Amino acid sequence: MSTFDVINPATAEPIATLSRASVDEVDAAVARAVSAQRTWAALPPLARADALRAFARVVEDHVEELAALEVRNSGHPISSARWEAGHVAQVLNYYSGAPERLLGAQIPVPGGLDVTFHEPYGVVGVIVPWNFPMTIASWAFAPALAAGNAVVLKPAELTPLTAVRLGELALEAGLPEGLFQVIVGSGSVVGQRFVSHPDVRKVVFTGSTEVGVEVAAGCARALKPVTLELGGKSANVVFADADLEAAAAAVPGSVFDNAGQDCCARSRLLVQRSVYDRFLELLEPAVAAWRVGDPWREDTEMGPLISAAHRDTVAGFLDGADVAFRGAAPAGDAAGSGFWFAPAVVLAAPGDRIAQEEVFGPVLAVLPFDDEDDAIRLANDTVYGLAGSLWTRDLGRAVRVSRGVRSGVLSVNSHSSVRYWTPFGGMKASGLGRELGPDAAEHFTETKNVFYATT
Ligand code: NAP
Ligand code: MG
Repeated sequence: MSTFDVINPATAEPIATLSRASVDEVDAAVARAVSAQRTWAALPPLARADALRAFARVVEDHVEELAALEVRNSGHPISSARWEAGHVAQVLNYYSGAPERLLGAQIPVPGGLDVTFHEPYGVVGVIVPWNFPMTIASWAFAPALAAGNAVVLKPAELTPLTAVRLGELALEAGLPEGLFQVIVGSGSVVGQRFVSHPDVRKVVFTGSTEVGVEVAAGCARALKPVTLELGGKSANVVFADADLEAAAAAVPGSVFDNAGQDCCARSRLLVQRSVYDRFLELLEPAVAAWRVGDPWREDTEMGPLISAAHRDTVAGFLDGADVAFRGAAPAGDAAGSGFWFAPAVVLAAPGDRIAQEEVFGPVLAVLPFDDEDDAIRLANDTVYGLAGSLWTRDLGRAVRVSRGVRSGVLSVNSHSSVRYWTPFGGMKASGLGRELGPDAAEHFTETKNVFYATT
């Protein structure tokens, strides 16, 4: 049996040893899921709604425990981790309203009655990355369960602990055995088996664009629908007419939150040339004030990177880069042997690697632009299209630019990306399909049309 250690990224110390599931174990789990799903889908809608509400309550009762586990496994600051655990409960609560609201249509036809039904797929396979282990999982498992499916969930090997605990809490809350199973293992074994297993009828993948393309290709061969939430290189566009002080103060949170390991990170800052110098002057103290350190401290804003290997990758992006200034990071004894990396602000040109590729670390590329058309052109000048922000006091400009940028999630004079009751997802190489929002449960169903002859 193959085992692996789970590491605390703030200390580099092992905190758990888990075993990797084999293909046979995945197949056994899928067989249990098939059987649990039949019973689940046949329950009255209210019974499924009540079960999900009970799951939400149990998660709420364990917010502190889940948050502490995420601090140890992912190095997230405790205040962020608490938000994430609470968010899982809120997502469950929101989609617990879905079973009674999966409305079909009645379509006028001659000679009979035509009705549509939203049928669950059956078993849904969910593959999640290490950056937000709990929240991203919940965006798939909550609406999938609400729509009458069973779920098998593969957490990232780096960060399996909160997902495993959520699987236990589901049982504690009374969800039927086999309905929601967390399967720990490697992407190439467990993840691939979700893609190839004939009884997994839909796959939701969140992770890198590179792996996502392979997952989509595998799903195509099996004619299996797939939702992809992939990488990003989102732009934060600051116009000269914006409230520059507010815009500058908001920059660190927009790109250094979760140490930049956020698919929505505004990792490109586009500033109108006439205020470019002034804006960098405002930005420097904001970056210096960004609090990096012990994730257990209530006022910490950023913890370590997830692994030593990832820190090397992030550091590689600074080779030969024009670094304007850096923020803080623990040094000496205070650093322990964790995977710390001080935030960096880099001056860049449009074709630079740092302006094109996802770093997934606390590195911001700054580029000037001339006018509105130039801003839109530059914002769209990457393969990605996940998120973005723009700062202006001109309403017409806000409308024009937000319609012109090819991204799935934009915010004006703010950096919000995720509200569970609004849709989330990417355009271009950032993904396929949408999660969250009012329609997410329906995305875990196929429409069946039935004509009943009356003559
Ligand atoms: P990754 O390497 O693509 O891994 C994501 C998940 O896929 C992990 O659970 C991984 O398993 C699994 N996996 C790896 N190879 C696989 C394969 N051949 N078949 C099936 N599954 C496989 O991504 P990551 O490095 O964990 O996460 C960083 C990336 O995720 C970034 O690019 C980021 O932008 C993206 N992301 C996107 C969103 C979004 O919503 N758009 C959200 C968060 C993150 P292992 O445990 O073996 O690694
Ligand atoms: Mg990976």
